[in-house]
Amino acid sequence: MSVIRILPEAIANKIAAGEVVERPASVAKELVENSIDAGATSVEVRVESGGRRLLRVADDGCGMTRDDALLAFERHATSKITSANDLDAISTLGFRGEALPSIAAVSRLTLETCHASEEAGTRMEFAGGSLRNVKDIARPCGTTIDVQSLFYNVPARRKFLRSESTELGHIASMVTHYALAHPGKAFRLESVSNEILKVSPVASHRERVYQVMGGKQLEQLVEFGPVERPLLPASVPLNLDEDPEGSAEVAGPPIFRISGFVSRPEVHKLNRNQIYFFVSRRLIRDRLALHALHEAYRNILPAGIFPVAMIFLDMPPGEVDVNVHPSKAEVRFRHSSFVHDLIRDTVLQALTASRPVAAFPMPKRPDTGAQGDPSYDDRVTPAAPQGQRNWTPPAGPRESYGSGPGRNFELSAPRPAPSPGNLPLAEAVLGLYAPPEPASCPAGYAEPAVQENRAGELPSDLLPLGQVRSSFIIAANPEGLWIIDQHVAHERVLFEQHLRRRQNTRIEGQRLLIPIVADLQPQQRVIYESIAEELTAHGFEVEPFGQGSVAVKAAPADIQPDDVEKLVREILDGVGREARALSLDELRRSIAATVACHAAIKVNMPLDQEKMSWLLLELSKTECPMTCPHGRPIVLRYDMKEIQKAFKRI
Ligand code: ADP
Ligand code: MG
Repeated sequence: MSVIRILPEAIANKIAAGEVVERPASVAKELVENSIDAGATSVEVRVESGGRRLLRVADDGCGMTRDDALLAFERHATSKITSANDLDAISTLGFRGEALPSIAAVSRLTLETCHASEEAGTRMEFAGGSLRNVKDIARPCGTTIDVQSLFYNVPARRKFLRSESTELGHIASMVTHYALAHPGKAFRLESVSNEILKVSPVASHRERVYQVMGGKQLEQLVEFGPVERPLLPASVPLNLDEDPEGSAEVAGPPIFRISGFVSRPEVHKLNRNQIYFFVSRRLIRDRLALHALHEAYRNILPAGIFPVAMIFLDMPPGEVDVNVHPSKAEVRFRHSSFVHDLIRDTVLQALTASRPVAAFPMPKRPDTGAQGDPSYDDRVTPAAPQGQRNWTPPAGPRESYGSGPGRNFELSAPRPAPSPGNLPLAEAVLGLYAPPEPASCPAGYAEPAVQENRAGELPSDLLPLGQVRSSFIIAANPEGLWIIDQHVAHERVLFEQHLRRRQNTRIEGQRLLIPIVADLQPQQRVIYESIAEELTAHGFEVEPFGQGSVAVKAAPADIQPDDVEKLVREILDGVGREARALSLDELRRSIAATVACHAAIKVNMPLDQEKMSWLLLELSKTECPMTCPHGRPIVLRYDMKEIQKAFKRI
């Protein structure tokens, strides 16, 4: 008996939906792409309940005739390709003919459309993929699709949906990308309570970036191009998998065009979230392109720090295969090394041309010795003059320091010079050390990386001896020698204070003399809306200020006014980076951690004895003195036994 059977259409569509329709944002993406392919000049998206209740995409594109509308919901029904050859040169965003039937299979979908060739428009209703109703309607040319109750018949998928604001954030980010790629079209995104993005058609990418990101962000970007490059014959043999029958020779070499925006060297991002590549106006993910961008910034940004980039590539359709990924997010370039070098060289040139060399911040890379920890790079505190307050080791043979209760602690002056190996740092820190996060202050709250230290207590009898590089406090007590990172130590103190205060009451902020206006990107705005109340309770006074901006009128005490904007952004980005919705407690911790990081004393800051003593005492009172709120170690300890062993005294 045969056990293999062809699956019914309805099941096949549900399976296909599993690939194409992952979450509300992927539905929105397919519908927006269809609108763009239909030649729309205006695309409007409405979202209710993060897209669960309703996702509506309305356009003024060419619309569909009734026959086409009926066909569009058949599997593999598309107007965009007709033969297999067309797959080699796709110039539309869609081509698979899978989106509409897949979306209809997992929702209640209503289509209203009208094509110029027909007098009446068509309205069709689907539920779980089956057509329930078709009728004539009056409407202008174009298409409106309502997707309601997404995943109502796929409980497994519904369970995986994140919070409404997370899903809305993803949709906002998607619409923003398309808006950036298509400056000539109007885009609007609204939720029940808000208009999140509204941009009218403009002539250039520059104007669109201004509309979406605001003037301050635009100032931080270097615009380049368009640069046109013919495919060099030399680059052909470089590609071993090159098809020798390529069309390059027939009509002259294919022309590649690149233009875009990259951030100035002083802009430091903690992740790649603001790097966008568009190929023929399609947002793509591509490791090769990313590599090329990193190459361009190689000597400009410290390791682990990322730029902002929007790079638009255009090439003949035959040069790129978009049929390699179900949601078309990845592509394959026919001449990949040519594309790689084109990106790298153009970006590098743009960066070099954009400013005098002297103004580049000197990147301090890990291989440059003691300055190497890039964590300290962008808290630009000028290096303190050497020697002023630096701790110098005791000169005499036996000098005693401090007196613990009843016993003296003695540190011997070196007799035979120990070889460096005799004081193995790794051992001395007792495994406390976890490599620091590459970035200065990751915004979100991270669980302390080294759990076993949470129980670790910091003694309250530490005697500060001095600072190294005005950044690390050296202290001693009878148990040994201690090195404390002053910034993260203070961060821990402030974090716990802030959190405690917030748990007891609302925190009063400090009014700023002049409100600070921050332009927010659509995704940041969505996050802002969702946490506005909690922000207020932490001492911020933030109000919407025109489209896409907020005015910050008050901030927690201890925050420098010129740091406020960065702080707000970091809080929003930190929340946005979380893969799941944060609980209230986690949100409070995340905000407290970011505020503490900004308010804490910096590295490269000379401290007098009194301040050091105060800091060590306060740190010893915290619940978790060994790790900072972002999981970095605060304290290294050279145990007395280790010191004695190293000096061969025991
Ligand atoms: P694809 O976009 O891959 O062709 P879809 O399932 O997304 O497949 O859409 C099927 C067809 O329906 C499209 O090829 C197009 O002809 C038509 N269509 C879909 N959305 C629209 C729209 N907003 N305006 C006009 N035609 C549309
Ligand atoms: Mg499509």
